[in-house]
Amino acid sequence: MRDFRYHRPADVAEAVALLDAEPEAAYLAGGTNLVDLMKLGVQRPDLLVDVTRLPLDTVEPLPGGGLRIGATVRNSDLAAHPVVRRDHPLLARALLAGASGQLRNMATTAGNLLQRTRCVYFQDTGKACNKREPGTGCAARHGQNRDLAILGWSEFCVATHPSDLAVALVALDAVVEAHDPGGAREIPLTELHRTPGLHPERETTLPRGALITAVRIPPLLFARRSTYLKVRDRATFAFAVGSVAAALDLAGDVVRDIRLAYGAVAHRPWRAYRAEEALRGRPFTAELAARAADAELAAARPLEHNEFKVPLIRNLTVRALTELARAVSR
Ligand code: SF4
Repeated sequence: MRDFRYHRPADVAEAVALLDAEPEAAYLAGGTNLVDLMKLGVQRPDLLVDVTRLPLDTVEPLPGGGLRIGATVRNSDLAAHPVVRRDHPLLARALLAGASGQLRNMATTAGNLLQRTRCVYFQDTGKACNKREPGTGCAARHGQNRDLAILGWSEFCVATHPSDLAVALVALDAVVEAHDPGGAREIPLTELHRTPGLHPERETTLPRGALITAVRIPPLLFARRSTYLKVRDRATFAFAVGSVAAALDLAGDVVRDIRLAYGAVAHRPWRAYRAEEALRGRPFTAELAARAADAELAAARPLEHNEFKVPLIRNLTVRALTELARAVSR
């Protein structure tokens, strides 16, 4: 591992100024991803700016049922928060589906959103990877791509985003609050992560040096009827092969409103707008849910080893929405 300097800033302004002044600095929060990548030589910051002692670790219920989650709230604390468990169960389920208890005790809200892909070639400095080293190629495009993207990929990168939490937050129309050298800004979570295009090394729309300070969830009363389903190769401590975050609002048997997002299918959490549109205003049936998923997945371009993800996501959609519909009607 490359030698590095360490600094603990007094406030957000000092943290942002440090990143602005030091081109090879990086923010350190829980370190559960960054430190691994430093050991592998994939990331080589020469200064770590430790933001874990900044006062960004509270969960605040907002008027009308919204929620403001500080950037350094630990994943375990957020999953156990009584308001999250009552009003946004998909968040608690997404968090508890991720990593291990020990990692959740360390990992933070913002760190979870900004974690890097688990594409095996990205983590292997001996392999071609446009994300790690722009212009070197993509070893996964015709290599081990079973776990990688079916939607929105480019010839430059077929990686997926590994966060479970991000999928749930995208479904909830969450907004990221951040500070950068230009001041404060807000970014809808649906616009935070990029598709790879020609530049997979650019993973988010955050400006250089920006520090996420909080994530805000707008009021959504029917989020109390929400869920997160994740398929993975092991029952615990494994990244998703596919996942679905869903919230459903029924009036009788008619879909009054819905939120739906997919994970482990693209370079960013995938909000399933087409599927939502196909469901809204129609009587709910499992067959309708399957047709809605098909409408979303019509744009899928599976790779050599991951065609199975298309029926997997369709079946997860049907299961998640059917379970929610049954819960509503009870
Ligand atoms: Fe690198 Fe992306 Fe290709 Fe994986 S899929 S090898 S991260 S460029």
